[in-house]
Amino acid sequence: MSEYTPPLRDMQFVLRELAPLDQVAQMPGCEEATMDLAKAILEEAGKFATGVLSPLNAVGDREGARWQDGEVATPTGWRDAYRQFISGGWNALSCDTEHGGQGLPRLVSALVEEMWNGANVSFALCPMLTRGAIEALELRGSKAQKSAYLPRMVSGEWTGTMNLTEPQAGSDLSAVRTRAVPQADGSYRVHGQKIFITYGEQDLTDNIIHLVLARTPDAPTGVKGISLFVVPKFLLKENGSLGARNDVRCVSIEHKLGIHGSPTAVLAFGDTEGATGWLVGEENRGLETMFIMMNAARFSVGLEGIGLAERAYQRALAYARQRTQGSEIGGRSGSKVAIIRHPDVRRMLMSMKSRVEAMRALACVVAAAMDTARCHPDAAHRLQSQGFADLMIPVVKGWSTENSIDIASLGVQIHGGMGFIEETGAAQHLRDARITTIYEGTTGIQAADLVGRKIARDGGQMIRWVIEHMRDVEAELVRKDESPLVAIATSLRMGVAALEQGVQFIVDHHAREPKKTAVGAVPFLELFGIVAGGWQMARAALAAHQRLSDGSDDTAFYRAKLDTAHFYADHVMVRASGLAHAVLHGADSALAIDDDRL
Ligand SMILES: Cc1cc2nc3c(=O)[nH]c(=O)nc-3n(C[C@H](O)[C@H](O)[C@H](O)COP(=O)(O)OP(=O)(O)OC[C@H]3O[C@@H](n4cnc5c(N)ncnc54)[C@H](O)[C@@H]3O)c2cc1C
Repeated sequence: MSEYTPPLRDMQFVLRELAPLDQVAQMPGCEEATMDLAKAILEEAGKFATGVLSPLNAVGDREGARWQDGEVATPTGWRDAYRQFISGGWNALSCDTEHGGQGLPRLVSALVEEMWNGANVSFALCPMLTRGAIEALELRGSKAQKSAYLPRMVSGEWTGTMNLTEPQAGSDLSAVRTRAVPQADGSYRVHGQKIFITYGEQDLTDNIIHLVLARTPDAPTGVKGISLFVVPKFLLKENGSLGARNDVRCVSIEHKLGIHGSPTAVLAFGDTEGATGWLVGEENRGLETMFIMMNAARFSVGLEGIGLAERAYQRALAYARQRTQGSEIGGRSGSKVAIIRHPDVRRMLMSMKSRVEAMRALACVVAAAMDTARCHPDAAHRLQSQGFADLMIPVVKGWSTENSIDIASLGVQIHGGMGFIEETGAAQHLRDARITTIYEGTTGIQAADLVGRKIARDGGQMIRWVIEHMRDVEAELVRKDESPLVAIATSLRMGVAALEQGVQFIVDHHAREPKKTAVGAVPFLELFGIVAGGWQMARAALAAHQRLSDGSDDTAFYRAKLDTAHFYADHVMVRASGLAHAVLHGADSALAIDDDRL
């Protein structure tokens, strides 16, 4: 059974050529992030991913997390791996230095995160959600809350959770019912039930810091009446040490299709006297904070898709090299060959490889924009970069995760019957990937956000700015006047034209005929993902072409980059025009049939 191998060479290529780390390192606060440092971090993270996390991936899947009498036991080896994870400083990579973090650019930590996900996504979820909770407290926590919780959450001594979902409130958080009643001492008593809470209970740390959405007694209905509370599992004494157990209990954990190692908890708040919590930020503005945090978490779930897809690809590639079946098509000898020699298997592998590379490049370009939005000395530059990152996050989340399911499914296909057999491991990737299009907002919700808030609201201004950049790349490819760059340019031109049609349709129809744009929202998200990924593949092709012209001795690597971009242009980008058709013309047929005829 193959284990995970960190794609270090590819990651370095992205950092040098597509999302240049040296540009990020020029900004104040990022100066230490040199290429040498990033290389060393990626190598060390790669060793940890391969040596510690990856071997536990199948163990976590087989054993799963176990619940007994309100306590949760993580799978064998999880506790030791977590101890090593935090003592290695991995928990704090991108956290603010003020509370003990290492303040590394998101660009570097995103690639490290991809490795954790490729090695063991169920494990990686715990630090991912802790980081989300850290960000919310950094952003809106009081001074006292920050000093009480942040140092120990940043170090990983305690973990954090996000408590949004309730049985009647999933995508629609306006339906949240959990109540928070103010007390004379300034605290609140929280009562309610939260479901599907990732790592809501675990045996890795002494305390868990829950961030909980709830309503105060006089809160307005709907999303404008939701506040955010911090509710620790154990209350803290004056000196910061652990005090009494709070009134929050894990009632059960879910039995799931995938990510078995990650406990998904039902939490009961306030079954007896009420769980003690404290307001984070202003009353009734909890959803705003949660959304900022969710944006970061959505990007992270996109990285889950990329890590899982990379691992599924690696496993399928290893199998395709080793499995012998049939003889070479058109060959004369009739001798048996490894299935990698069959054109259809090769097509599937290329489809996996090219999309993984496109997704990684796109995510890194967005991560660099997040760094620019945080650190650039010029305010206009910061604003533009934030706008770009905001536009792209639903695409990184939605497109990368939808792709990960398809890529993991192709991985099963390449294994033939063995892919369907659990011991091979390919099936686990498919089961694990399946959740990524659901949590942190389903693909439907990402697409609604993209179409409504990110495109229609500014009349398509930001996306047209992105399209201009795509056109610049196309022009540069044409200027080279060489194969396969011209073919890549032609395909990019068609993709961009399809994207532009989709944008125009959304801008023209969103306000007047919202159902029409809603039908096309997910196809549009996919269309945008494909074209944005193709834009990055085209940039990769240009960079590889340049290196080859410069006489690089890594010819095989750069030739493969060109070939992969060419494949993407021929097999992936060409789907853009079909999707544009669905966006522009697909609404009537989707809406025509009565509900009871469906
Ligand atoms: C393993 C796991 C871990 C999770 N971890 C957490 C966690 O840590 N914290 C937490 O708070 N939650 C967590 N969740 C909950 C998760 O975020 C929700 O399941 C998700 O947001 C979808 O909500 P729902 O399940 O209620 O589905 P619903 O909202 O009922 O959606 C059902 C379907 O309807 C569609 N739909 C609903 N509304 C709309 C709309 N307005 N427009 C278009 N389509 C729509 C959806 O896209 C979906 O296809 C987790 C869930 C799982 C399964």
